[in-house]
Amino acid sequence: MKKQYEVVVKQDRCKRCGICVAFCPKNVLDIKINSAPEVVKPEECIGCNFCYLRCPEIAIFVLEKEEAI
Ligand code: SF4
Ligand code: SF4
Repeated sequence: MKKQYEVVVKQDRCKRCGICVAFCPKNVLDIKINSAPEVVKPEECIGCNFCYLRCPEIAIFVLEKEEAI
């Protein structure tokens, strides 16, 4: 079964720089001007953590979801 991930953006920490969106290889995230990123395709996330590792504000986290039984 494919692993599933939840991507969480901490609105209060995010500086809306768009780095996480640019580095996501699966286009999970999208960003509009003056907004924090939106998680538009959560099912595409592969858990690579590039967004988390590149974020200068530690404002985005990737959580592995529990598998449904
Ligand atoms: S963990 Fe990887 S695939 Fe998932 S949102 Fe972050 S950069 Fe994109
Ligand atoms: S890289 Fe971090 S600070 Fe920049 S838009 Fe993404 S979550 Fe916000």
